[in-house]
Amino acid sequence: MITKFLGKVFSGRIFKARQPKIVPFSAHGIARERISPCALKVTQTLQENGHTAYVVGGAVRDAILGWEPKDFDIATSATPEQVRELFRRSRIIGRRFRIVHVMCGRETVEVSTYRAGAAADDDKDDQVADEHGRLLRDNVFGNQEQDAIRRDFTINALFYDPTTQQVWDYHDGVEDLKKKKMRMIGDPEQRYREDPVRMIRAVRLSASRGLEIDQATRAPIKSLTPLLANVPPARLFDEMLKLLLSGHAYECVKALRHEGLHHGLLPMLDVILEQPMGERFVMMSLRNTDARIKNDKSVSPAFLFASLLWHEVLAGWKKLEADGMPQIPALFQAMDEVIQSQAGKLAIPRRYSADMKEIWVMQPRFLQRNGRRPYRLIENPRFRAGYDFLLLRCASGEVDPAIGEWWTRFQHADETERRELFAQLTGEGAEPQKRKRRKRRRRTADDAPDAGGAEPS
Ligand code: ATP
Ligand code: MG
Repeated sequence: MITKFLGKVFSGRIFKARQPKIVPFSAHGIARERISPCALKVTQTLQENGHTAYVVGGAVRDAILGWEPKDFDIATSATPEQVRELFRRSRIIGRRFRIVHVMCGRETVEVSTYRAGAAADDDKDDQVADEHGRLLRDNVFGNQEQDAIRRDFTINALFYDPTTQQVWDYHDGVEDLKKKKMRMIGDPEQRYREDPVRMIRAVRLSASRGLEIDQATRAPIKSLTPLLANVPPARLFDEMLKLLLSGHAYECVKALRHEGLHHGLLPMLDVILEQPMGERFVMMSLRNTDARIKNDKSVSPAFLFASLLWHEVLAGWKKLEADGMPQIPALFQAMDEVIQSQAGKLAIPRRYSADMKEIWVMQPRFLQRNGRRPYRLIENPRFRAGYDFLLLRCASGEVDPAIGEWWTRFQHADETERRELFAQLTGEGAEPQKRKRRKRRRRTADDAPDAGGAEPS
């Protein structure tokens, strides 16, 4: 009943239709040259064929903020089939909500038909929200005004027409951008209930773009954080990945924490952050990721998640060892438990969790520097990731930095220098350890099931 009513409000049946402000080029300053050739071609072709088509969402927001938009989304009156027919290199994707990917050269733009809020077809089905108000369905075609109102923040609901260079603004988003304000469209609490992920989006966008969340938009977040528990884990994973790869992960995680939103996202991330060593390590790895993104270097989500969860693995590992389990089985069990504990919340895909385990499993091997072991380790296809991870552990104070330096030299050294490096170890008392380890060989990381990938025999 309530859902139906809200739906009517959202589908514009109770509130009068809104007139958009048409903001001219002189007021927003986005020249069509700022739009990618592919997005230009798509809007133009759609318009020539009798449809309306605009660049929408993050690209318009970022362009007005003076940022380089990273991808372009198009909103149009054309149906997915009509779009598909106009572009040879295009395909319809998505089952619940179908959008069209149009490819030009190496670029892809995402084309969506205008959509209405969930209950535009409320006569057909009452089951559009769960008991907390979370929308289960919002895939109904609508008009441009409805498409604006179903979006989250006013600054994300701007439609830019490259032909006229005008921005169609239904919710004063341009003004908010000028004031560097983030404001939710509609009633913030209700919109967070419909989709709790909007809380994370609020934090991510404000922290990464240097915007202030409007008081009314921010206020409900604290009490609504438990709703994140109802979001499907795969969706949370995607949103967290976006946040962590935004190039501003450090600020974003700090802001998440400030809003109390980190609880339950990565289970125990809160606990980790409260231990000085864990916090240092996590924050360093976030800074490291941000720096890589700024320098256009690749970043691996597996590496990042491996770092975020490392201190949890460490804690479990130490505990199992203290309970009498041998070192390597204890590490394996701790890793499995940590990955398992994530599954219900964040759903780290298997392809990442396998890589994370490889990075973790390599860590004890860095401490075993006698005999042929270092030679075998540097041949490991994942050596680089494991070594980078070791350096982070050194920098955070967890591991003696001399060990990291040793590996830095060893991997690039010639045979003479390597002999010196081994001699240095003997000086540090490596020999007795070597003998001891030989007796207990079965328990070393080298003998563990080889999650580290193929090693030369
Ligand atoms: P980014 O620059 O990180 O991609 P974005 O705002 O473009 O940020 P997208 O996930 O690409 O984020 O979403 C595109 C647009 O879709 C948004 O600008 C917004 O208008 C709308 N949108 C995305 N997620 C939601 C949501 N959860 N609720 C309402 N509208 C949303
Ligand atoms: Mg986007």
